Amino acid sequence: MNDYYQDLGLSRDASAEDIKRAYRRLARKLHPDVNSGPEAEDEFKRVSQAYDVLSDPEKKRAYDMGADPYGGQAGGFGQGFSFSDIMDAFFGGAAGGAARGPRSRKRRGQDALIRLEIDLSQAVFGAERELTIDTAVECGTCHGDGSQPGTGTRTCDVCGGRGEVQQVQRSFLGQVMTSRPCTACQGYGTVISDPCFECSGDGRVRTRRTLKIRVPAGVDTGTRIQLTGEGEVGQGAGPAGDLYVEIHVMPHETFQRRGDDLHCSVDLPMTAAALGTSFKLDTLDGMKDLEIRRGTQAGDVVTMRGMGVTHLRGTGRGDLIVHVNVQTPTKLDAEQEDLLRQLAVLRGEERPEGQLAPVSHGLLGKLRDAFLGK
Ligand SMILES: [Zn+2]
Ligand SMILES: [Zn+2]
Repeated sequence: MNDYYQDLGLSRDASAEDIKRAYRRLARKLHPDVNSGPEAEDEFKRVSQAYDVLSDPEKKRAYDMGADPYGGQAGGFGQGFSFSDIMDAFFGGAAGGAARGPRSRKRRGQDALIRLEIDLSQAVFGAERELTIDTAVECGTCHGDGSQPGTGTRTCDVCGGRGEVQQVQRSFLGQVMTSRPCTACQGYGTVISDPCFECSGDGRVRTRRTLKIRVPAGVDTGTRIQLTGEGEVGQGAGPAGDLYVEIHVMPHETFQRRGDDLHCSVDLPMTAAALGTSFKLDTLDGMKDLEIRRGTQAGDVVTMRGMGVTHLRGTGRGDLIVHVNVQTPTKLDAEQEDLLRQLAVLRGEERPEGQLAPVSHGLLGKLRDAFLGK
């Protein structure tokens, strides 16, 4: 014999309200329209049958006294009704969410997404750009209503303008009134007698247009700029959707961005690193003086404050961080070699002892960055 209480996850003293709530919850989860799992359909039939028995006072009384109205057979319920029909039966039509009556031909248009490549300098300072976009716009011939000028629409004679046809079906929930959109008019309640030649009755045509946009300073790859109402125009001259412009910042050959800081590296001769120097650095802000203090080590960084990327939210800019590569000379002529040997003697460095150095955080950071592929 079927255990209908267990099928609904209920105890034997469940109230009518408990039974209804349990079934509603399970039906939502299991109905084949929403759950394509292989066992969902059988499970759905099983809980529907349980609900059929337990929700009917007479069948329930018989069942509680030990008689299964289905003679112990499983299955056969909940077929032929769509999920929304069942939900409508519970919620009186509100659950499906579908507005009743003829639907408007006006529909909000879809959002559109396009990708915009910019260079690093445009990301740092912002830019004005022109975009060419291809979207649906209102048809100029019919101004969106879809009819040849001077014609118009007539009331659908299949549904009488209601946009839907109703049927009564018997079901385990009692009589269920189901509504289907009218197929003759696709639910609009009216029929376009003479579709517009230009747009075939859609009320819109695709066209290319140019749009100026301001790219704010500080954007990064993945930033989306929303342009309200610049997306696709809706059917029947409905309001346009929004246009999203997704930024893609092209890699720069010198500067690498991390957050709002920019990083670059300079090669410096060993002598300049030892003695200190200054030179002009070609930055995104133009040529700037860069001071290298004496005794600069390989891997040291020089921070140029406020010369990074503009903060997208808030004010100010990140920093430009210059990583110094100290270059050891390789091709020495006789004189240079002689000078270096003299220097080594003067500094007592002819036979320096190699020493294990303590781990520096700078080095650790570099190793970690290398490991993370930064
Ligand atoms: Zn048209
Ligand atoms: Zn109709």
